[in-house]
Amino acid sequence: MGVVFLFEAGEIACSDFDQVIDCTGIAQGDDDLRGVRGEMLLLSTRDVSLARPVRLLHPRHPIYIVPRADHHFMVGATMIESDHDGPITARSLMELLNAAYALHPAFGEAEIVETGAGVRPAYSDNLPRAKRRKDGTITINGLYRHGFLLSPAMAEQAASLLFNASADN
Ligand SMILES: Cc1cc2nc3c(=O)[nH]c(=O)nc-3n(C[C@H](O)[C@H](O)[C@H](O)COP(=O)(O)OP(=O)(O)OC[C@H]3O[C@@H](n4cnc5c(N)ncnc54)[C@H](O)[C@@H]3O)c2cc1C
Repeated sequence: MGVVFLFEAGEIACSDFDQVIDCTGIAQGDDDLRGVRGEMLLLSTRDVSLARPVRLLHPRHPIYIVPRADHHFMVGATMIESDHDGPITARSLMELLNAAYALHPAFGEAEIVETGAGVRPAYSDNLPRAKRRKDGTITINGLYRHGFLLSPAMAEQAASLLFNASADN
């Protein structure tokens, strides 16, 4: 529909645009938002074979393991009330590895291919919102643990805010 995406665009003045949709996650600085840190591992082993994602029901380590191509397995994810986005901590690394090992001892011999950490933006009820701020900016935020799954629905809500407001003008 003629939308242009600019990556690595540097500093752009929002005032240059008729409509601005802010999707900057935790950086948005909304007082209602909090960060929930998540850490994950990517393991590689030929000794485990999973046909589908497996969720471990465990009181301390409720992790999931997602089989990926080339004998890789994503092990995730921690849930820590923090907006710190630094590298994975030793404690989290140990806990994720322990949980993977408990699920299948062959993970003890797996190679650690990658570790990752991110901050999930969340509102107090953990539900996402598309809303219009007083300055006219539309914000999409609070996607918490489900950003990939919910983004089409949130885009629809944002489009509805955008085009209904345009129709009113
Ligand atoms: C370990 C882990 C595993 C996860 N697994 C899943 C999963 O399996 N399924 C799922 O649905 N969700 C998952 N999530 C959650 C998902 O990652 C989040 O819900 C989602 O990333 C939130 O999307 P967002 O675009 O709102 O925010 P973000 O992904 O945080 O994106 C915000 C972006 O804005 C950029 N930005 C900040 N300030 C500015 C600025 N001033 N100008 C321009 N850009 C700016 C940031 O660099 C960032 O790229 C997981 C999260 C973690 C941490």
